[in-house]
Amino acid sequence: MQNVAILGATGSIGVNTLDVISRNPELYYASILVANTNVDKMLELCRIHKPRIAHMVDENAAQLLQTRLPIELDIQVTTGTDVLCQLVADDSVDTVMAAIVGAAGLIPTFSAVKAGKRVLLANKESLVMSGQLFIEAAKQSGATVLPVDSEHNAIFQCLPEKIQNALGSCDLDDSGISHIILTGSGGPFLTRDLSSLSSVTPEEACKHPNWSMGQKISVDSATMMNKGLEYIEARWLFNTRPEQLKVVIHPQSVIHSMVQYRDGSVLAQMGNPDMRTPIAHCLSYPQRIASGVEPLDFFEVGELSFCKPDVNRFPNLALAIAACHQGQEATTVLNAANEIAVAAFLSKQIKFTDIANINQNCVSAVVKSKLDSIEDIVALDAEARARATEALNKYR
Ligand code: NAD
Ligand code: MG
Repeated sequence: MQNVAILGATGSIGVNTLDVISRNPELYYASILVANTNVDKMLELCRIHKPRIAHMVDENAAQLLQTRLPIELDIQVTTGTDVLCQLVADDSVDTVMAAIVGAAGLIPTFSAVKAGKRVLLANKESLVMSGQLFIEAAKQSGATVLPVDSEHNAIFQCLPEKIQNALGSCDLDDSGISHIILTGSGGPFLTRDLSSLSSVTPEEACKHPNWSMGQKISVDSATMMNKGLEYIEARWLFNTRPEQLKVVIHPQSVIHSMVQYRDGSVLAQMGNPDMRTPIAHCLSYPQRIASGVEPLDFFEVGELSFCKPDVNRFPNLALAIAACHQGQEATTVLNAANEIAVAAFLSKQIKFTDIANINQNCVSAVVKSKLDSIEDIVALDAEARARATEALNKYR
């Protein structure tokens, strides 16, 4: 029986994880549920899944949860970031689902990595921000990092065991791998008239054609910043050189990504676009468990198509790839700027197309900094947020 702590339990990945766990109750117990402010959802999850601990990062939310939680459930309510870090590192926890959205996930995810846990990584932003430090910490503690992000999970599944066991420091050449191919649907605006992009609404941007996800990642998918963040994520997980990583648009989201070998073989992982597949894969690896996902019906899928990403349409993708090659300062700053810009777009303060302008403004000011510790990363993140917030004024 694995005890699983779910960070971001009330979100899209969290709820899907609980769904997979509830289908396999003899194998997993969600012992700790963590969220920020959503007390209603946490209450509902506590009633169904009966964790040992319900942690609300927001103190007021924790107090409210405490007053509303029936005593007979016998669930301990906790709060605060320090307490959260102790909880995920506790001996009673085997597996940590890292599914908090954004930079807020960095500290608790890093704490799970340092404690040598089995870390199911959905929170790509933490790896984008901390890159080398994250990989080194995992190596030192012996943590097993498994990628939940559907593309990275697909790639992982198409890699030989030797590479699977050495994520972060693997040698692709040595295993005859020529390219890692990240696929992306292109999001809701793949074919929309370019001149109308400046007037799209948050509702339109969040309506992804194939996946149902949280708001931030949905907007990132519409700008293709998501693919950019995934490019950086892949760079660290699979230890790639720039020429080894490619992005291909595949609107049907049936192929979740691919690995191309020296001999001409291309291995692809396919399935219905449902995050319960990669979640189940990470929970049970190297075994396989039921996930609740419908089997892929090839006759219904019909056609699979592919095309090149257009950087005029998706400037954020180009920015992220450039930042990846520039280094850790640039990726940390870009991630922070993007979070501020996306939040401003979602609250209707700026236009969709201004997200890229603000991101560009912030990465163009990046200077070499000392990034030897998580504290350095957190400080740079804060600095970039301040700059992005200032830049917002120009576009509001
Ligand atoms: P979501 O918005 O649905 O949920 C976010 C969760 O994070 C919520 O439980 C919320 O309470 C928690 N949270 C937010 N701010 C917090 C804070 N300051 N402290 C603690 N908890 C906080 O997001 P999601 O779609 O589930 O995405 C979660 C992560 O997984 C993101 O990093 C995303 O990029 C990644 N991911 C998601 C999908 C998907 O299909 N949804 C796919 C791949 C990767
Ligand atoms: Mg993805």
